[in-house]
Amino acid sequence: MKVPENKLTAESPIEPIPLPEKVIIPLHQNIGAPCETMVKRGDKVLTGQKIGDSERFVNAPVHATVSGEISATTTVINPPTGQPAAALVITSDGKDEWVELEAPEEPEALSVKEILGKIREAGLVGLGGATFPTHVKLSPPEGKKIDTVILNGCECEPYITSDHRVMLEYGEKVLSGLNIIRKVLSPDNVYIAIEDNKADAIDHLEKLIVAMGFKEDFKIIPLKSKYPMGAEKTLLNTLLSREVPIGGLPLDIGVIVHNVSTTKAIHDAVFEGRPFVERVVTVTGVVKNPKNLLVRLGTPLRSLIDYCGGIDGKASEVILGGPMMGISQPDLDFPVTKGTSCVLVKESRPIREQDCISCGRCLEACPMYLIPTMLAKYTKAGRYDECQKAYIADCFECGACAYVCPANIPIVQYIKVAKSELIKRAATK
Ligand code: SF4
Ligand code: SF4
Repeated sequence: MKVPENKLTAESPIEPIPLPEKVIIPLHQNIGAPCETMVKRGDKVLTGQKIGDSERFVNAPVHATVSGEISATTTVINPPTGQPAAALVITSDGKDEWVELEAPEEPEALSVKEILGKIREAGLVGLGGATFPTHVKLSPPEGKKIDTVILNGCECEPYITSDHRVMLEYGEKVLSGLNIIRKVLSPDNVYIAIEDNKADAIDHLEKLIVAMGFKEDFKIIPLKSKYPMGAEKTLLNTLLSREVPIGGLPLDIGVIVHNVSTTKAIHDAVFEGRPFVERVVTVTGVVKNPKNLLVRLGTPLRSLIDYCGGIDGKASEVILGGPMMGISQPDLDFPVTKGTSCVLVKESRPIREQDCISCGRCLEACPMYLIPTMLAKYTKAGRYDECQKAYIADCFECGACAYVCPANIPIVQYIKVAKSELIKRAATK
């Protein structure tokens, strides 16, 4: 499906934003278990110091992203789950004093176990927005052979350009991180998927692959620029003609997909011992100067918008992520978290939901061959079991159905409600 790209910031180099005066660090920023706090109010912390962790395997620790003092505890709505999560507030001392980084003398000599340990300790999660802990994704269950690794540089959502800029400005680190994954999983094939609207990134990485000696190992596959090409299931279908089984994962068909910002962070964690404390965020839409910013995690969204000259429009809404899959965020004091790739400020127009006219456009648009109109209808009627029978779990919330709906039915919002009800029911069984 073709959607307007609106990549306003494709030519905007990554710009570091000044250190915030205070950061808010949610203790749950990943799919899986939340962290427990390792500090208390009044404690002094250094940048990169671990301040939250868990003994659970499916978890990623969190770190202080500025040096200073733990000045408060608070609660935020956790982005991956929509549930309230405890958070730590750090007031910066303005010095940005770091913990001592433990960079290995011979990173190439690290064992797979040591590499996975470093990735875990750095708190890495999938930075495309999925926030699944990276060390877990790189530890397939025994007996599951991963034959193909795909580096996902598609970035098909309109407006977002953070991954595009990461490929252009941190290309060596992106490829170095990919090579670490190759060492961990020993796949037969490593592909780099990039949409053809990023010809400069394709060209740049092609040259780097040769210069870094990866010509025999990595293959770039340019793909048509089409929404939702970057979604894992679409990518696997297009690239390998393989389908993920219903309710399954790419690893069930021998594939693991990683995002380019994640592999850059893998390089930093393994080669430099650097915890994940900052990320690239596209700030775009109706702001005066849309930009790509390098931002410390925990920085309030308001600071990013102010740095870009403020909101340049009337009635507006702020979306975390892109216009298709993003989540509306009314609170501008909400912090940038590990999964924040974009802050989109949109002019909002009141839209009235109408009755379904059975036009079938949502069926044609759905890349998973679901029946989105039925999912919305079942949810409205509270018939969540029917949603389950209609394979709601296979919906990856790409938003294509809602985008084409002439009746303005917020189908994805209904789907999210049904999924959340089903999760609650499963938890109480
Ligand atoms: S959001 Fe809509 S179009 Fe996308 S996978 Fe789900 S049901 Fe299909
Ligand atoms: S696109 Fe909208 S109006 Fe058309 S069938 Fe789907 S839900 Fe109904």
